[in-house]
Amino acid sequence: MRHWYRWRIEGMNLLPLNKDISQISASCHCKSIRFHVTLTDGLHTARRCTCSYCSMRGAIAVSANLDGIKFIEGEESLSLYQFNTMSAKHYFCSKCGIYTHHQRRSNPNQYGVNLACLEGISPFDFDEVPVYDGIRHPADKENGAGPHITGILKYMRNNKR
Ligand SMILES: [Zn+2]
Repeated sequence: MRHWYRWRIEGMNLLPLNKDISQISASCHCKSIRFHVTLTDGLHTARRCTCSYCSMRGAIAVSANLDGIKFIEGEESLSLYQFNTMSAKHYFCSKCGIYTHHQRRSNPNQYGVNLACLEGISPFDFDEVPVYDGIRHPADKENGAGPHITGILKYMRNNKR
């Protein structure tokens, strides 16, 4: 796969990331699990979440529809973790432990996919990542109010070599 969406020019900062990609290959760390992802809105959905599990996991997720993940290899190596309302399904590689994707509680028609598993994409390509309130979860709100952004995580690159 050509990394047309990101390239480095010697001595300069990274050019802005192309967030409009729709199709991308992905894998866990040990590459036992390899899959192809069709994103709902490119990398524009990148976010973190403050719920008890996501806080520990620390991954940035992007959205895909349920038919947007096609496993190429290693689906049998996935482990599943569920807690609390048991509605979200968190999948991770049983060998290397890396979170690959989860079926969302706030939108069961979607997966969240670990951005860091996407080929050629790093969490540190993002200057800012919005953080959603997963403690006061949208599904727990009586009036069905949408997701609430609690803050923005910022990454400031050290340009010194
Ligand atoms: Zn693995």
